[in-house]
Amino acid sequence: MSSEQSILGTCPACDTEIPAGMLLIEYEKDDHRAVYAECPLCEDPVHPR
Ligand SMILES: [Zn+2]
Repeated sequence: MSSEQSILGTCPACDTEIPAGMLLIEYEKDDHRAVYAECPLCEDPVHPR
């Protein structure tokens, strides 16, 4: 059990952690899962890493 909010990854532009709630779209690319999420700091869609 964890009380931590799940994190998708960090923004490639500003290194801010992007919470799962910011997920915009999720898709398959070359056999792996890729997501687009909105960075809370940049306020832009980014690929969390
Ligand atoms: Zn950012």
